[in-house]
Amino acid sequence: MNSNKELKERGDKVFVGTYSRYPAAMVKGSGCRLTDADGRQYLDFMAGIAVCALGHAHPKITEAICRQAGELVHVSNLYYTLPQIELAETIIAHSFGEKLFLCNSGAEANEAAIKLARIYSAAERYKIISLSGSFHGRTLATVAATGQPKFHKGFQPLPEGFLHAPFGDLLALEEMIDSSTCAILCEPLQGEGGVRPLAKEYLQGIQALCKKHGLLLIFDEVQTGMGRTGSLFAYEQLGIQPDILTMAKALANGLPIGGMLTSEKIAAAFVPGTHASTFGGNPVACAAAVATLKIILADGFLADVMQKGAYFQAELRKLAQRFPALLSSARGMGLLVGAVLTEQGVAHGTAIVNKMFDRGFLMNFAGNVALRFVPPLIVTKEEIDLLVAALAEVLAEF
Ligand SMILES: *Cc1c(COP(=O)(O)O)cnc(C)c1O
Repeated sequence: MNSNKELKERGDKVFVGTYSRYPAAMVKGSGCRLTDADGRQYLDFMAGIAVCALGHAHPKITEAICRQAGELVHVSNLYYTLPQIELAETIIAHSFGEKLFLCNSGAEANEAAIKLARIYSAAERYKIISLSGSFHGRTLATVAATGQPKFHKGFQPLPEGFLHAPFGDLLALEEMIDSSTCAILCEPLQGEGGVRPLAKEYLQGIQALCKKHGLLLIFDEVQTGMGRTGSLFAYEQLGIQPDILTMAKALANGLPIGGMLTSEKIAAAFVPGTHASTFGGNPVACAAAVATLKIILADGFLADVMQKGAYFQAELRKLAQRFPALLSSARGMGLLVGAVLTEQGVAHGTAIVNKMFDRGFLMNFAGNVALRFVPPLIVTKEEIDLLVAALAEVLAEF
């Protein structure tokens, strides 16, 4: 039998060291539960970083994957396939979008958005302004768009034309706009940046600046999309319509896929030859995505996400009252939930997450400011209660 210890040793020998991993090898999942190689169980409030929205090994998704894998796995985008068409039709029927481009990840979706914004705009307009604290991916262009210096270090020179406006400051943002700016790119809520929501008025101000200066508004909904916030996309709750929207993470409940959604007018700037992805819109991933959307869009599902998110945040606020030295508040949208740490709490952020791991609860510490919880959207109130009770015990140890 392979143990955690043996698999950790083998893995550490062969992998480029890009991750600091917990000493556990996961072997099986079901719903919100994971089991490791030593047979230990975990309650998963990470969901593969907001990916497995319907939990692990959801039978409907497994069935869709297996059925499609038995029919056709890949043909390239030289041909049409039904799962791709069904996926695009579903997303377009439930959003502002009229055209969809499919790829394999969040970074790739943002790359497509950046390229589209540039090719759509006049040749001298190429600059894209994003926000400090943002996260947009790990390719060179999306790293350049990411407003956190720690992700830039060692990779300069980065592609040109990416500026970062200070978070929350509309005046500073407007001052950065000049005749070479083509777009503003932001997340409606910064996930990696510490579950930091952008106020509705701030986002509406950003949209107003885009209108005033003729810029495209690009929403990175890679993390906030696909029902995570209690609506299919977060923009629906904000009274704002972006020009371009990117999605990925939960789109196929764990299979790699990404998408870029836009209007017919803007999409027309991409023509055969301007952009492509070999695996983009892979039939198996698309079949999984269609099955995932069917469940997320079913009656009552998103209302339930909203309700459980509100309950979870309220429970975390109670913890903040009990442990004011460590926790200051709770924030988020739907089931993208953060427990904001005090200055003293931040010093213990990693230790809190590690102690929760030891107790069998998966979560993480985001943006060096908040404990982040992104459980499967099918999480139950009872499971939320278990997490909150364990967190209370852990906080009491400090
Ligand atoms: C995760 C994430 C990305 C990057 O997605 P990958 O699939 O890892 O490339 C981009 N933007 C946001 C907001 C994310 O949360």
